[in-house]
Amino acid sequence: MLDLTTPLMYLKGVGPARAAQLEAKGLKTLEDLLAYPPFRYEDRRNLKSIRQLAPGEMATVICEVAATKQVAFRRRDLGLFEMRLRDGSGTPLLAKWFHGAYLANVFAEGMRVALYGKVELDSYTGDLLMMHPEHELMSDTEDDEPGAALHLGRIVPIYEAAGRVTSRQFRVLMHRAVEKIPELMPALTDPLPEHVRARLDLPSRSEAIARLHFPAPEDDVRLLNAFRSPAQTRMIFEEFFWLECGLVLKKSRARMETGVAFDLNERVREKIKAMLPFKPTAAQRRVLAEIARDMAQPHPMNRLLQGDVGSGKTLVAAEAAVIAVENGRQTAVLAPTEILAAQHQIYLKKLFGKLGYVVAQLTGGMSAREKQQIKRLLAEGLIQVVVGTHALLEDDVEFKSLGLVIIDEQHRFGVMQRLGLRRKAESPDVLVMTATPIPRTLALTMYGDLETSVIDEMPPGRMPVITDHVNETRIEQVYSFVRQQVDEGRQAYVVYPVVEESETAAVKAAQKMHEHLSSIVYPDLRVGLLHGRLPASEKEAAMDLFKRGETQILVATTVIEVGVDVPNATVMVIEQAERFGLAQLHQLRGRVGRGRGQSYCLLVTGRLNETGRERIRTMVESTDGFYIAEMDLKLRGPGEFFGTRQSGLPQLRFANIVRDKELLETAREEARDFIENPPAPEMVRDAVAYIQNHWQRRYGLSQVG
Ligand code: ADP
Ligand code: MG
Repeated sequence: MLDLTTPLMYLKGVGPARAAQLEAKGLKTLEDLLAYPPFRYEDRRNLKSIRQLAPGEMATVICEVAATKQVAFRRRDLGLFEMRLRDGSGTPLLAKWFHGAYLANVFAEGMRVALYGKVELDSYTGDLLMMHPEHELMSDTEDDEPGAALHLGRIVPIYEAAGRVTSRQFRVLMHRAVEKIPELMPALTDPLPEHVRARLDLPSRSEAIARLHFPAPEDDVRLLNAFRSPAQTRMIFEEFFWLECGLVLKKSRARMETGVAFDLNERVREKIKAMLPFKPTAAQRRVLAEIARDMAQPHPMNRLLQGDVGSGKTLVAAEAAVIAVENGRQTAVLAPTEILAAQHQIYLKKLFGKLGYVVAQLTGGMSAREKQQIKRLLAEGLIQVVVGTHALLEDDVEFKSLGLVIIDEQHRFGVMQRLGLRRKAESPDVLVMTATPIPRTLALTMYGDLETSVIDEMPPGRMPVITDHVNETRIEQVYSFVRQQVDEGRQAYVVYPVVEESETAAVKAAQKMHEHLSSIVYPDLRVGLLHGRLPASEKEAAMDLFKRGETQILVATTVIEVGVDVPNATVMVIEQAERFGLAQLHQLRGRVGRGRGQSYCLLVTGRLNETGRERIRTMVESTDGFYIAEMDLKLRGPGEFFGTRQSGLPQLRFANIVRDKELLETAREEARDFIENPPAPEMVRDAVAYIQNHWQRRYGLSQVG
């Protein structure tokens, strides 16, 4: 008896080797396989003979390889592979591939192949020609049991290969799995609520899956390739629907929990006023009111605070902390890096100094004795505000009465970590801050369980940073510009990319550049060095020297990406800027333009490809973090958006949050309506169970029910 959880090994045609290759692609069970959608479809309904082909059309032909040759080119790396083909119609066809040397091992005379591509005329011979056609070998292997009917004469699904499992082999396996659908998914067990399906006119799940893999003859290929056929729509919608249901459930569950109702009375207001170093902007005031309203509720707050770099989020967070502390509760601030924790600590100490709060720091780099000491004071309630890194999440960190948790740069922490701190107290209020503006679609999928506040205004007097693109061959001009600024009393950063897998390389590059700049380019200036491999004390020292203006130039890796605040720094030089994502470039640029006086950002790159140019152009043209975030999402895709894999982004199989924006909005509406006004109460119970069993892990939706 098969069911959806049956391992793929039990499917005919999948042996141990193939199972391993499929598993490497995340495909373990029949359900996984069926949820592996084609990424493209080919219309092979109108098969033509070669003689029927007309230049300019897209067509599929089945023919036989008559001859192959590799054309030696003057530049060998252009190796052109050429093939002559024939069928019974008497007209020859040429196919050519640049960089096609590898094809010599694929094609041989006498093979039957299907070619799909644009028909042209060869300018030398006048023969019919296809350049870089899609190709598929038609030679019969044991896999082909269902016959060529799967691969020809229909709209054919194209799958991304998995190891040595080709698109064609997928088609065969998929056919076998689809045949089992009546057994695997009895028609009556569609999990999607009937009334939702009916309202949106969506096909049943079993029908959708079958049709998505093997479209019916009357299906529209253009719709399929736009991922908008009814079958695809159903699967995409469903994926969003359960995700949003999970988020709505989480949100309503939190509203039912009891939390601390903080009192925002006149005394607390006076304290806040006494602390503020400047007049808050209107946006800061509005956002604080939203936060204060949440904090006054007898339920835990779950709020996301968004705002562009430099918009003054930290100040608002500090105000929230005053509310907590004045109500006799402790505040914990969780930062992603030691440098940022140190920065926050300094900043908050300065603010809270006037109020007499005890502010402390707890990071992994501290000595065991120091840590022990801080932990004891925390447990005794003698520290009001603690700033720290992951070290705060350790089991033996206890609070006397934790009331507010502020998480900076949330996307760097997994969802589990977010929960980790919450467990240290009975439902503290949680304020999540992110300096990377998050496009709405991403916010809906990742933070749909949070309320959102946005600071959409910069503190007064800020001048937009002037951004320029410089080719690395003109680096001398960059150096002289930096000198000019330093001569005027300003400071500069020079940053190297840390691509996740090669921190070592970046550290080396930064060290070398530090050496070069300090001894050759600026022997008369003081050049500091800061990177993630330095011991905590040296990092702090380097930061401190720069802050006090004792070093004029700071060479760094991306450790300075977030939070660093030195208003006198007016130049940001970013080396190899093409290797950064847009969101990251924007973050880095946000390190300058923080004080009075014009600031500059110089993006140094090598030769750029198309996307590289697009990215740099976006940076040069815009300083709007939300616009840049949207562009980044578009250019890099959701998986790469945060530049880190463990970002808590749900793993979607059918849906794509960029392409399927509208369906996401629909699913969100439907999910809210379903959970809040279910046709029958037990339907919600069933939904909770279904989400727990099927989606929880993949979506990172801990604690739905
Ligand atoms: P973010 O965390 O949003 O990037 P910060 O809180 O670090 O921004 O604030 C950036 C800079 O602007 C800091 O130097 C901060 O002191 C200053 N700042 C914040 N709010 C105001 C304000 N209302 N008026 C003037 N300066 C402000
Ligand atoms: Mg900040």
